[in-house]
Amino acid sequence: MSNYEIETKCIQSGWHPKKGEPRVLPIYQSTTFKYDTSDQMGRLFDLEDEGYFYTRLQNPTNDAVAQKICELEGGVAAMLTSSGQAANYYALFNICEAGDHVVCSSTVYGGTFNLYGATMKKQGIDCTFIDPDASEEEIDKAFRPNTKALFAETIANPALVVLDIEKFAKLAHDHGVPLIVDNTFATPINCRPFEWGADIVTHSTTKYMDGHAMCVGGCIVDSGNFDWEAHADKFPGLTQPDPTYHGIAYTKKFGKGAYITKATAQLMRDLGSIPSPMNSFLLNVGLETLHLRVPRHCENAQKVAEFLNSNEKVAWVNYAGLPDNKYHALAQKYMPNGTCGVISFGLKGGRDVSVGFMDKLKMIAIVTHVADARTCVLHPASHTHRQMTDEQLIEAGVAPDLIRLSVGIENANDIIADLKQALETI
Ligand SMILES: *Cc1c(COP(=O)(O)O)cnc(C)c1O
Repeated sequence: MSNYEIETKCIQSGWHPKKGEPRVLPIYQSTTFKYDTSDQMGRLFDLEDEGYFYTRLQNPTNDAVAQKICELEGGVAAMLTSSGQAANYYALFNICEAGDHVVCSSTVYGGTFNLYGATMKKQGIDCTFIDPDASEEEIDKAFRPNTKALFAETIANPALVVLDIEKFAKLAHDHGVPLIVDNTFATPINCRPFEWGADIVTHSTTKYMDGHAMCVGGCIVDSGNFDWEAHADKFPGLTQPDPTYHGIAYTKKFGKGAYITKATAQLMRDLGSIPSPMNSFLLNVGLETLHLRVPRHCENAQKVAEFLNSNEKVAWVNYAGLPDNKYHALAQKYMPNGTCGVISFGLKGGRDVSVGFMDKLKMIAIVTHVADARTCVLHPASHTHRQMTDEQLIEAGVAPDLIRLSVGIENANDIIADLKQALETI
C-alpha cells in the first residue's frame, strides 16, 4: 500500500507495469489464461498459488482497478462487481445465510431497499429498517442474536441524509457485527468511512467514480479491521472449513484478506456478476480524474443550492452545504471538503409545478441517473417512484414535489441560468 496522497493514488495506484510492459492499464479481454503444466493450474484451483485462470474469478484489468479503489479507501482488499446492486448483495450475502438478520437504514437507495427488504427476504435473510437519525437506544432495539451486519449509506440517495458513522460503528461493534457503508455519493475523495470505524465499504462505481455515465459497476472494499475470529460462532462461513474449497477456513488461511477472498472464491465463482475488463478500463479512466471532478461538483452544487435557496418560487432546498441544513454539522465533521453534487428541492405549488418546471429546462436533461459530468434532473414521484400514492411517497421520505438535481461540472453560471429561465416560466 502506497503512502501517496489521494490525488496521486487516483492516477498511480493499481497498475504497476514492469520493464517493457504497457504504461497504460491494458484491457485483458480474455476469458482464460495459459499454463505450461497441469500441476501449475492445479495449484491455482487449490488456492495454493496466486494467478489467473478464468475471468469470472479474477482478471488483471479488473484486479488493478479494484486495487486502486482499495487504496483510495485505505482498505486491505477489494473486488469489482458488475453493478452496485451486485456489490451490496455480495457484501451481505458473504456473511449471511437463511435464518440470519441484518439491520439497515431506511433511507438507503431504492434498489438496496428492495434487495434487502424483499429479494433477500425470499432467501430467508430478514432485514429490519431503522431511521438513521434515531437515537442509539432506539436503533439498538433492532438487533437480534442472529443479526450479522449493520448497513447504511454515507450520504443517502436521494434523501441526502448524512450518516453519523461513529454512532453506527459503535452500535455494530457493540453487537459483534461489521458496519457496512455504501460510500457511492461521498466517494473516498470526500469521506473515507474506514477512518471513522466502518468495516466494509461498497460503491456503485456507476456514479462519480465512472463519472461519465458510461458503465454500470460496483466495488466492495474490506478494511481488514473486523475480527471475524473474535465472533467465530456468528461467521462460520469465514471461520470454519469450506467443503467447496478443499476445507479451507478463510480467516485461518488468508487473515485480513479472508472476507474478499471468500467473496471471490465462493460468491463470484457461483453467482457470477463480474464486470467486463472493457468496463473496468473505462472506470479506471474515470478514477484518474475523480479528485478533480468531485470538488468541482461540490463547488457547483453549493452555488446552485444557494441560488435555489434565495429564489422566491422555491419552497425548500435540501443540501448539506447550506448552513441551516439538518445535516450541516455532520457533513462538516465527516466530509469537511464537501458532500456531493446532488441537491433535492421542491417548488411552491407542489407536484404539478415541479413537473412543468422540469419540462422547461433546456440544457439540464431529464434522465434516470445521478452523479455524472452532465447536470441532470429527475422527479421521483413521476419516474422512479411512479407507482406510489402521495401518502406512500411521504412515508418513503420522498416528497411528491421533490426534484432531484444532479449538478454536473459545466460552468455553474450556465446551470443557474437554465434553472432561472425555467423558474421564470412557472
Ligand atoms: C445507484 C446506486 C446503487 C446501485 O448501483 P447500480 O450500479 O445502479 O447497480 C447503490 N447504492 C447507491 C447509493 C446508488 O446511488
